[in-house]
Amino acid sequence: MNIYGNYVTKLIEELARLPGIGAKSAQRMAFHIINMPKENVESLTNAITNAKNNIKYCSCCCNLTDTDPCNICSNPKRDKSIIMVVEDPRDMAAYERTKEFNGLYHILNGAISPINGIGPDNLNIKELLQRLNDNTVKEIIIATNPNVEGEATAIYLNKILKPLDVKVTRIAHGVPIGGDLEYVDEVTLSKALEGRIEM
Ligand SMILES: [Zn+2]
Repeated sequence: MNIYGNYVTKLIEELARLPGIGAKSAQRMAFHIINMPKENVESLTNAITNAKNNIKYCSCCCNLTDTDPCNICSNPKRDKSIIMVVEDPRDMAAYERTKEFNGLYHILNGAISPINGIGPDNLNIKELLQRLNDNTVKEIIIATNPNVEGEATAIYLNKILKPLDVKVTRIAHGVPIGGDLEYVDEVTLSKALEGRIEM
């Protein structure tokens, strides 16, 4: 039904494609945008276009970045002997907020999920193994989400890392089972890191 005219309808449709945005929210957002000053709308559209056009993946940790290597990988103060493996950049951001971890990260870009057709080859595992070549890394902390996919990924990673000369640990389950690291509070994340166990 096209009660608002083609342009507004199209805007609502596009917004409704975003995750967590239902038809009602999309409609509310569309009307909010239409009522915004023109320069604010331009600033919003520029932010979207610039983020999409200028973002790259760090050639080391696979994090989203506008410089390569990213700020974390190129920081001389970070401990290069520990790598924390996470599913996506938001999980890394959650650990950064705890300020408890001073090592490096590796972003898998998802987790093993046969139901969704995601296998080890779809994740940045090759890139992780490459980082172990020069023997700088002494410990890998597997911090995938404590749900079915995250656990399957942790077990797989442990299996392929075990034969290599590196300690493999898994974050402790202070993190709720079935949870999503992104939404876990900082104290719980710090405790999970502190209580990590060798796999
Ligand atoms: Zn990086």
